[in-house]
Amino acid sequence: MGHIQVNDFKKTNVPGVFAAGDNTTPMRAVAAAVAAGTMAGAMINHELIVEDF
Ligand SMILES: Cc1cc2nc3c(=O)[nH]c(=O)nc-3n(C[C@H](O)[C@H](O)[C@H](O)COP(=O)(O)OP(=O)(O)OC[C@H]3O[C@@H](n4cnc5c(N)ncnc54)[C@H](O)[C@@H]3O)c2cc1C
Repeated sequence: MGHIQVNDFKKTNVPGVFAAGDNTTPMRAVAAAVAAGTMAGAMINHELIVEDF
């Protein structure tokens, strides 16, 4: 259906790239988009804080 494929943590198969909301699911609703965006944001934060510089 043309959606971006993500796992349960909203991660794509491209390192460092996450997706959330209408572009990932046929369930188009504000509540679903907000929940998905919250998960993506939390996981992005996690990846950043565990990354070694
Ligand atoms: C007419 C209509 C009525 C709806 N009514 C309801 C309702 O009553 N209740 C409900 O829960 N949901 C409703 N929805 C669904 C809801 O609007 C969406 O599920 C929700 O907005 C999805 O949020 P999103 O952030 O994933 O995407 P969007 O809100 O679509 O945000 C995506 C953003 O990305 C921007 N963008 C696109 N391409 C690029 C680019 N290349 N570069 C930079 N920015 C880009 C767009 O301009 C847009 O601002 C409705 C949708 C429509 C179309």
